Formats: sequence, structure tokens, C-alpha cells
Amino acid sequence: MGNYLRSLRHRRRKRLATQYARTTAGDQRVAVIGLGRFGSSLAGELMRRGWDVLGIDTDPGLVQRYSDSLTHAVVADSTDPEALRQLGVGEFPSAVVAIGSHIEASILVTSNLLEAGVPNIWAKAISRQHGTILERLGAHHVVLPEHEMGERVAHLVTGRMLDFIEFDDDYALVKTVAPAIATGMPLGESQVRSKYGVTIVGIKRPGQGFTYATAETVIETGDVIVVTGKTYDVEAFSELS
Ligand code: ATP
Repeated sequence: MGNYLRSLRHRRRKRLATQYARTTAGDQRVAVIGLGRFGSSLAGELMRRGWDVLGIDTDPGLVQRYSDSLTHAVVADSTDPEALRQLGVGEFPSAVVAIGSHIEASILVTSNLLEAGVPNIWAKAISRQHGTILERLGAHHVVLPEHEMGERVAHLVTGRMLDFIEFDDDYALVKTVAPAIATGMPLGESQVRSKYGVTIVGIKRPGQGFTYATAETVIETGDVIVVTGKTYDVEAFSELS
């Protein structure tokens, strides 16, 4: 289970890096403040995607550890606006505040970045209250990795789902073992969409890769499918026998 959770966390960070990359097309510089587990994973993923990453931390040991793998790694206290100014962080198109348990520092750093005019600030929160404060402060994107991962794992633990991703507006994408009601006839005839409000978009036969589902696709017992729809509907559908 440990490895499984680690892989889920890894994918979550990858997804955040992808979301982040999409919102800043063009100038590929980013300052990552805080090189703890979250910040260092995010920074590493951005580097792998060819981004220029300035990593900042107050801990010289962490900065030393990541000095070879990031474009720049600097020891600085980012609660000090002057330190950020000297590093030119205000000129960056985006910055990530990857400080969690030091809540006061997280708030001060976010405030400094806003003051410096960084147009795209991502901030990590460790609780809903922390997230609310960061949003009210003006952070452009607030993420709650622990909460979001907890909700995601709860879905996996309690159901037959093999993977679960929830988007905004109560919409989800789920990988699950096909329920019997969807098997044995072409999808076009199964009325899955009209009866259950979900769309089957992909299918994987044992021993084969995923392929698109079409109206002619006949799902067989043991197939794994990818289903989209309202969160409640995909949850209910994946629980059908
Ligand atoms: P993790 O990502 O490991 O779960 P966390 O959520 O517990 O971390 P913290 O440990 O509070 O968050 O902070 C993450 C990193 O941010 C730490 O390495 C810490 O040294 C660094 N940090 C804290 N305050 C500052 C600051 N003022 N300036 C720069 N870096 C800081």
C-alpha cells in the first residue's frame, strides 16, 4: 500500500505540474519557494519538462541537495521582501509557494509575491482554513495536496474503482472493472449513457493496452473501462454488479 500511495502522490504532483505548465505557456521560468517533499517533487517534474526552476529554501542542506538538479537553488528567507527582490522573483511569470506547516511563512511569502506583482501564484495549503486565507489574500491557485489525495484514496478504498480523478464542477474520470450490466452487447445498444448518465470512453482487455470505446465496442467480463460523468453517477455506476 505504501508504494501505491507513493505512486498516487507522484501522479498527483505530475498532474499539478501539467496544470501549472498549461497556465503559463510562453515564459518557462518558475520560482519554487520551499524545497520540502512537495516543492522538490514539483520542481523536479518541471525541470524534466524543460522549465527553468529557481528553488529557494531557508535550509542550506536542502538547497545543497537540489543545487545540481535545478536551474538555480538559493538559500534565502522568502518572508523577507528584500531577499525576493534581490533574486528577481518579481520578474518571474509565476511562483509556487510550497510551504505548508510554517503557515505564517506561507502567508507572508504569498503576500510578498503578490506585492512584487508575480502574475501567477500557486500556493499549497495544509488545511481548508489555510487554503481560505491564501485565497482571500489573493493567491491565484490554491492546492490542498493532502486533502485531495485523501479524498481520492477514500474513493479507491471504498469502491471497485482502480483510479479516480475529480475535476471542477463535480465531474470525474474513473477507471474501473466493467459492471456486468455493461457487458455482452455493443455500447450503442447498452443505454449506459441514458440509464446511468455516464460515458464509457476507453476499454482495456486483459493483457492489452487501452483503446477508445465506440458505439460498436462490446465489453466483456473482466474488461477494465474508463468512465466519465458527474461524480455521483460514475461512483454509482462503478458500484453496479
Ligand atoms: P512538505 O512539502 O515536505 O510536506 P511542509 O508542507 O511540511 O513540507 P514546510 O516544512 O513548512 O512544509 O516547508 C517546506 C519547505 O519550505 C521547508 O524545506 C522549509 O525549510 C521551507 N521554508 C519554510 N519557510 C521558508 C521561508 N521563509 N523561505 C524559504 N523557504 C522556507
